[in-house]
Amino acid sequence: MHRSIRKLASPFRDGDWPNLGCPVCGEGGLRVERFEWEHQNGQKDHEDDPTDLRGRFELRLVCGRAQCTSWVLMTGDYITDWSFDDYNKYLDVWPMLTVRTILPPIPVIELTDNVPESVRTAIDRASAVIWLDPLAFAGVLRTAVERLMDEQGIVVRPAGKKPAYLHDRLLEFAKVQPQAGKLLLAAKWVGNTGAHETTPFTPTDALDTAEMVEVALGVIYAKDNSALLARADRINNAKKLVP
Ligand SMILES: [Zn+2]
Repeated sequence: MHRSIRKLASPFRDGDWPNLGCPVCGEGGLRVERFEWEHQNGQKDHEDDPTDLRGRFELRLVCGRAQCTSWVLMTGDYITDWSFDDYNKYLDVWPMLTVRTILPPIPVIELTDNVPESVRTAIDRASAVIWLDPLAFAGVLRTAVERLMDEQGIVVRPAGKKPAYLHDRLLEFAKVQPQAGKLLLAAKWVGNTGAHETTPFTPTDALDTAEMVEVALGVIYAKDNSALLARADRINNAKKLVP
């Protein structure tokens, strides 16, 4: 998981922009083109306390790659932070931004190329809701784990004809892949929490869960290093740099 994704989970200062990759082309970096917040020009009523301003912001990011230049639009809420310069009697106020939506969504989980499409689709769907509704994210991530068990062919039929519970499937899967199974089971418990509206659940909690699924997928669908290993053999045999 990219460090900048973690940064989006807590309020950050205007100007302290996270370094994000373009979700459209997957190659370019995003730069800030336009940022606006409700109180920026002083027209909106400051009410009594200028350090207690809150409202909404919008941010337009643009891919820096000439062949792409796609827009990525971010919206969210802010509260204000401030400092007071005693000497000059100057009050400085700035917005602390909390992201609520990103369109198109920026994937929060890094996937290797061989992760199956059904799992990938569910994870993309989860990435779209994480900032607005972390509980919904946990629920969709659970669906991704269900799809993963389908792809792994883990079918457990308990007595009767009820569909297998995810819990039973994961226990079965853990017999084959203990590490990944342990991580996915933990993510499943958190997904259950997602069903209870009263449970406090933050974007950071959601990312912690996402990281467990990310690491599990990295174990199951490990990056293919065979070409690199084969070249290492050729170099070792030749005792010099060869293609
Ligand atoms: Zn791009």
